[in-house]
Amino acid sequence: MSQVPFLDLGATYRELQGEIDAAVGRVLSSGWYILGPEVEAFERAFAVDCGVKHCIGVANGLDALELVLAAVGIGPGDEVLVPSNTYIATWLAVTHVGATPVPVEPDEATFNLDPRKIEAALTPRTRAILPVHLYGLPADMEPIRAIARARGLFVLDDAAQAHGGLYRRRRVGGLADATAWSFYPGKNLGAYGDAGAITTDDDDLADRLRALRNYGSRVKYHNEVAGWNSRLDPVQAAVLGVKLRHLDAWNLRRKRIAALYDAGLAGLPWLTLPRWEDETASSALHLYVVQTRRRDELQRHLTDCGVQTLIHYPIAPHRQPAYADLAMPEGSWPIAERMAREVLSLPMGPHLSEENAQRVIAAVRSFDGH
Ligand SMILES: *Cc1c(COP(=O)(O)O)cnc(C)c1O
Repeated sequence: MSQVPFLDLGATYRELQGEIDAAVGRVLSSGWYILGPEVEAFERAFAVDCGVKHCIGVANGLDALELVLAAVGIGPGDEVLVPSNTYIATWLAVTHVGATPVPVEPDEATFNLDPRKIEAALTPRTRAILPVHLYGLPADMEPIRAIARARGLFVLDDAAQAHGGLYRRRRVGGLADATAWSFYPGKNLGAYGDAGAITTDDDDLADRLRALRNYGSRVKYHNEVAGWNSRLDPVQAAVLGVKLRHLDAWNLRRKRIAALYDAGLAGLPWLTLPRWEDETASSALHLYVVQTRRRDELQRHLTDCGVQTLIHYPIAPHRQPAYADLAMPEGSWPIAERMAREVLSLPMGPHLSEENAQRVIAAVRSFDGH
């Protein structure tokens, strides 16, 4: 029996092979391998796509987050509000600049940071709110920005899962003071290796970020600040330039799969389906995440049926050994902990066939989930 893979990454290359090979060949024969015209061309294209003035290409998503935090001056003694239920990179970036991540629990209907829970998490040390558009659905940015404005806080968002997502008809990437992106291969806009970027409308911040990603230097061998080496690779920039032109079409295919799942999985009382579109937000559908109390059994059943699934994420950041020093025992953030026990990501991607989506549906429906 053939398998239904979670995501067929090679399919993106097979579909665009001619364009990708030409772009990569162009960079290799140019003799220019660090920053330069290919990186600038992608930065311009992605800024236009996001509807902002600036894009700064960096080495990966974690660096994008770290550089943004450093560029606005967040460091030791500062606190940053982060979702309790994100990928650990969001927290690690805060930790790496010497600040403290302060978890805020999500709204259970959207999985995103709940603006109603922000006030209780604020202290005199709070400097920024860092929402994540988890699984591709934009967080509710308007109330978050209103609180930030009233308190003089930065809003920095982690858009690693939300390429092409919409909030109040605006593209993710222009919804905060600055937005951190990952182009990890499995993301909606993915490179063939590590890559990341920051988008912003703030001229000064963009200028600082360009220096920070390049040894803190604006002029070669003049180092104004202790910067990083975190530059977007021109080969990856050329690949991303090709794939960006297909992002919207590929996201539409994701929506068709999600609509099939919604219809095919409706009415199972033991299974909660994700919200991926509402009055304010339209998801990039990076992941289609269902919830059930018998998640582990359902996952085993699907494996037996030849359907590959993943868990995003099986352990909440505060329960990771990496954060043992925060001393947040089981029960500290119950929504994040419940999600870690109950979420399951079904196969999702632009190259998942409708036939395979129907096989996933049939396999889920053949499980006795009561
Ligand atoms: C993928 C991801 C990151 C990190 O991206 P890398 O490019 O792997 O460093 C950060 N935050 C979230 C929510 C992610 O999904």
